[in-house]
Amino acid sequence: MTDTSLQVDDFNDQALAKIEASTREIGRTIFDRISHRQPTVLERRWWDDRIMSWAMQDESVKVQMFRFIDVLPMLGDSAATIRHLHEYFHEVDRHLPGAVRLGLAVATPHSLAGRALALAARRQAMGHARRFIAGTTSAEVLAAAMRERKLRRGFTLDILGEAVTSEVEADRYLQLYLDLLDQIAPTVNGWPEIPQIDRAGIQELPRVNVSVKLSALDSRFDPIDPEGTTRRVGNRLRTLLRRARQNRAHVHVDMESYQTKDLALTIFRQIMAEDEFRDWPDVGIVIQAYLKDAETDLKDLAEWARRRGTPVWVRLVKGAYWDYETVLAEQLGWPVPVFQQKWRSDANFERLARYLMLNHRWLRPALGSHNIRSLAHGLAAARHLGLPSNSFELQMLYGMGDLEKQVLVDMGYRMRIYMPYGELIPGMAYLVRRLLENTSNDSFLKASFTDLVSPEKLLMNPLDHAAGDGHAPPPVVENAPKPARFSPFKNEPTADFARESQRAAMQRALAQVTEQLGRHYPLWIDGEAVDSSEKQASFDPSLRDRVVGETAAAQAEHVEQAVAAAKAALGPWNALGVNARADFLLRAADAMRRRRFELAAWEVFECGKGWREADADVCEAIDFCEFYARDAVALETPQGVDVPGEENRFLYLPRGVAAVIAPWNFPLAILTGMTTAALVTGNTVVMKPAEQSPVIAAKLMEIFDELGLPPGVLNFLPGKGETAGAGLVKHPDTAVIAFTGSRPVGLAINRQAAEVSAAGIGYVKRVIAELGGKNAIIVDDDADLDEAVLAVVKSAFGYQGQKCSACSRVIVLANVYDVFLQRLVEATRSLQIGEAEDPATSVGPVVDAEAFERVQSYIEIGRREARVALAVDAAKLAERGFFIGPHIFADVPPNSRLAQEEIFGPVLAVIRAADFDEAIRIFNGTDYALTGGMFSRSPANLERAKRELLVGNLYLNRGITGALVGRQPFGGFKMSGIGSKAGGHDYLLQFVLPRTITENTMRRGFAPASASPDE
Ligand SMILES: Cc1cc2nc3c(=O)[nH]c(=O)nc-3n(C[C@H](O)[C@H](O)[C@H](O)COP(=O)(O)OP(=O)(O)OC[C@H]3O[C@@H](n4cnc5c(N)ncnc54)[C@H](O)[C@@H]3O)c2cc1C
Repeated sequence: MTDTSLQVDDFNDQALAKIEASTREIGRTIFDRISHRQPTVLERRWWDDRIMSWAMQDESVKVQMFRFIDVLPMLGDSAATIRHLHEYFHEVDRHLPGAVRLGLAVATPHSLAGRALALAARRQAMGHARRFIAGTTSAEVLAAAMRERKLRRGFTLDILGEAVTSEVEADRYLQLYLDLLDQIAPTVNGWPEIPQIDRAGIQELPRVNVSVKLSALDSRFDPIDPEGTTRRVGNRLRTLLRRARQNRAHVHVDMESYQTKDLALTIFRQIMAEDEFRDWPDVGIVIQAYLKDAETDLKDLAEWARRRGTPVWVRLVKGAYWDYETVLAEQLGWPVPVFQQKWRSDANFERLARYLMLNHRWLRPALGSHNIRSLAHGLAAARHLGLPSNSFELQMLYGMGDLEKQVLVDMGYRMRIYMPYGELIPGMAYLVRRLLENTSNDSFLKASFTDLVSPEKLLMNPLDHAAGDGHAPPPVVENAPKPARFSPFKNEPTADFARESQRAAMQRALAQVTEQLGRHYPLWIDGEAVDSSEKQASFDPSLRDRVVGETAAAQAEHVEQAVAAAKAALGPWNALGVNARADFLLRAADAMRRRRFELAAWEVFECGKGWREADADVCEAIDFCEFYARDAVALETPQGVDVPGEENRFLYLPRGVAAVIAPWNFPLAILTGMTTAALVTGNTVVMKPAEQSPVIAAKLMEIFDELGLPPGVLNFLPGKGETAGAGLVKHPDTAVIAFTGSRPVGLAINRQAAEVSAAGIGYVKRVIAELGGKNAIIVDDDADLDEAVLAVVKSAFGYQGQKCSACSRVIVLANVYDVFLQRLVEATRSLQIGEAEDPATSVGPVVDAEAFERVQSYIEIGRREARVALAVDAAKLAERGFFIGPHIFADVPPNSRLAQEEIFGPVLAVIRAADFDEAIRIFNGTDYALTGGMFSRSPANLERAKRELLVGNLYLNRGITGALVGRQPFGGFKMSGIGSKAGGHDYLLQFVLPRTITENTMRRGFAPASASPDE
C-alpha cells in the first residue's frame, strides 16, 4: 500500500458503495460475536441496576439523581446527605418505587435509618464512579492498566482535575502529570511486549500514553488573547512533552469546548512544529465530528502535518459537550457550532474517518467511539484501502462498551482505553457526564443495551436515517422573506472573540480610533453645533496623560437654550406618532451595529473598559433601542373596555422635557437606554453625560443627528454636574429627570426636584434614580466551588468592580470558608492587570483620579477593619494610569464600613457566616437592595433564597453581573433607587402620563354598536 497524497478528499461513489456493504458486514460480525458472549458480571449488574433503570425511565428522577451524585462529595456527614436526599427526591416522590419512598420517609437526618441510607447512597455512587474512574492513586491506576493489558488493551491516562482557577492550580496539575509519568513509566516500560498493542509494523509504540487538557495548563486560557495563552500554556506543555519523551510516553491533547477549540489547535500546531518536537510522532490531538468546522480543521491539520514532515495521531470522536454547546449558543445568540441532528454527527464521523484512513500517512487514525456502526465504517474504509490493522487504532472509555472492546481485540485490532483517574470531587463531574451520555436517548449504547434496537437498524447508514425520519436537509430557499419589522425581541449577540475575524475587527477599530483621539466636540442644541468658552477634556484612564477628546462644557445659558429648544420640539415630535419615533430607535440600533467595534474602542480608551465589557455595553445600547421601540408601540396600542352607550379609552401622554443625567460606567448603554425610553414615548430630551465619558456620548448624539432627528428633540449638554446637571434638575421646564449614579447625588436630585415642584411649577417632577448597591454572593457549604470561585472573581473584579451590580461582599458558610478563600485569593492573584486596550487584561484602571483616591481610602479602612487576604500591587502601571490591584479582605465584620458602604472598585469583603440563617441576615443587612446571588446545590436553600434574599436582581448559581435587556430587567430598591427596572416592560411607564377618556355615546336612547378599541 503506497501512501495516499493529501489531495484525496474522499472515495468515489463506487468505492463508497463497497465500503457501505463492508461496513454492514463488519458491523454484523461484531454484533454476532457480542451476542455469543455474556456480559461481565459487573457490566450486567450496572445496566440492570435498579437505580439506573428508574433513572432511564423517568427524566425527572434522572435529573434529580444526577444532581444528587454531583453534590455528594461536598456533603460532609450523613445528616447533610439525608437532608439533600430528601430535598432532591421530594419533588419526584411519586415517581419512586414504594420501598424507596418508605425508606426516605423513615430516614431522618440523625436517625440510625438515616445514617444507614446515607452510607448506602454513598456506596452506590462510589460504585458508579469506580465503573468509570480507574482509581484515585497512581498505584490503583497502574493496577487498572495492568488489568487492561492482560486483556490485550492499551491505555491512555487522564488526570481528573477541578477547574483550574489559578496559576498555582495550573502548576499543580502539570506536576501531577510529571509525577505520574515518573511513577508509572519505569514499570510499564518493563512489561513484556504485546505486539497487538505495542507495535505498528516495525515501529514500536509508546506503552505509556497520557491525555491532557490544555485549559488545565493555564488559569487564563482565553481565546481573546491567543499569544499570551499560547506563551503560558506552551511553557508548561513543553515541560510535559520533555518529561514524556524521557519516559518514552505518548501525549495526546484532548478537545474541550468549542470556545477553546481553535486555540487548542493553534497551540498544538505551534509547539509541535518547534525544532525540538518536530520529529516526534508520539503526539496527537482530538477532532470532534459533531462540530460543523471539523472537516476544515482536519484538512488543515493534515496539511500542517505534511509540512511538519512527521505524522501526528488524530483521535476522532463525536464530542462530549453537545448539550453545553447547544445551550450556550442559544443563550448567547451565537450560531450553534454542533450539528443538531444525531445522524449528521454520525455521518460526519464516517466522512472524517474515511479522510483519516486516506491520509493516514500524516494523520494516524484513532477512532474513539462505542458506536459499532461508526467504528465498522472506519474499519471498512481501512479494509478497502488495504491498510494493515496496526496502522490505526480504536479507542474507548474505561467502563463503557466492554463487550465490544473484547470482540474488537479478538478481531485483531489495537484497542486503547481512556482511563481517567483522580479525586472524588472532580471525579463526580466526569461521572455525571458519562451517566448523561449513557442514558441519553441518542446514545448508541443505550439503544443497543437497554432499548434493544435491532442490529439492522443500528447499522443503518446515517444518511438513510436522515431521509427515513424526516430530517432530510431543508431545501435552500432563495430570497427568503425578511423578518417582520417587529419580530420578537432578541438580545444582540456579543462578539465572539474566539474567532480571529472578530479579534481583527476590534484591533482595526482600536487603531482607527487612536487616530481620532484628541478631537473637539461641541454642544448640540436645537439641531445646531454650539460651542462654549469653557472646555473639558476627557482622559484615558489607562494612560492618564492621553486626551481622548475635548468637549465644550455647557454653561447656564446653554441649559436655558437646550430646554427651550426641547420644549418647542415637543408638539411636533409627539405628533409624529409612535411608529415614526420607534423607527428612529430601530435605525439607531442599526447604526450602532454597523459601528459596534468603533464604539467599543471608544469605551476602551475613554472608560478603561476591557474588550468584552466594552462590546457588551454596545450590545446593551442596541438592545435598549430595539426593546423600547417594541414596548412603546405596544404601549400606544389603544386600550379600553367599551359597554353599549359608553366608549372608554386608556392612553398615555408624554411627560414633557426629560433631563437625562448618565453615568460613565456603562457610557453608551445607560445613556442610550434612558434617552431612547424618553424619546420613544414622545418626550424630548436634554442629555447630560458623565464628565468622564463625554466623547462616547458625543458619538451617540452624532448617530441620532445622522438619522435626521428633528431639531430640538435631542440636545447634548456635556459639562460639569454642578452647572449642567444641577441646572437641568432645577429648571422649571424639565418634567422628568432620569438619573443613574451615586446615592448622594441621586438623593440630592430627588430633594431638589421636590423643592422646585413645591415652588409652584404646576406639576410634580418625576425622578427616576438608579443608585448604588452593596451586592453580595452567598457561598453555601454544598456549592460547586469551581463555579463559585470563577463567578465571584468575575463579578467582583470585572471592570474593576465598577459596575452597579459588582459583587463587593461574599458571604461564605463556615464549612467551606477556608478552602473557598484560598482558591479565591489564588484565582484573583492570577488575574492580569494592564491597559484596557490589551485583550490579555483582566483588570484595567479605575476611571479617574477621584475614583483612585476613594478606592485607596477604602483599602486603608479595610486594613484597619479586617484581615488583608490579598493586596495586589499595581506597581509600575500606577505611574501611568489609575491602576489599583485587586484587594480581598477576609473575616470582615458584617457591620464594618467595608461591608456596608459602596466602594466601586476592585475591593472585595469576605464575610464568614456560621450557618445559612446568618448568611441571609448578613446578605440583607445593608441599606441597599440592588443585585445579589447565591451558589448552592440545596433545593431547599435555593427556595429560601428566592423568598428571603431581598434584592432587585437575584442570581442563583451564576455570576451577578451582565444583566440583559428583556431577560434580566435591572434595578433595585431600598437605597438602590427609585424607578422601575431598566430593560423591563414597566420602564417606559415612568416617562408617560396615563389618561382615561370616557364618552357617553347614547343619544336619546340610541347607541351605535360599540367598536373594539383597535378597530
Ligand atoms: C477514547 C475516547 C476519548 C475521548 N476524548 C474526547 C475529547 O477529548 N473531547 C470530547 O469532546 N469528547 C471525547 N470523547 C467523548 C466522546 O465524544 C463521546 O464518548 C462520544 O461522543 C460518544 O459517542 P459514540 O460514538 O460513542 O456514541 P453515539 O451514541 O453514537 O454518539 C453520541 C454522540 O452523538 C452526538 N450527539 C448526540 N445527540 C446529538 C444530536 N441531537 N445532534 C448531533 N449530535 C448529537 C454527541 O457527540 C454524543 O456524545 C472521547 C471518547 C473516547 C471513546
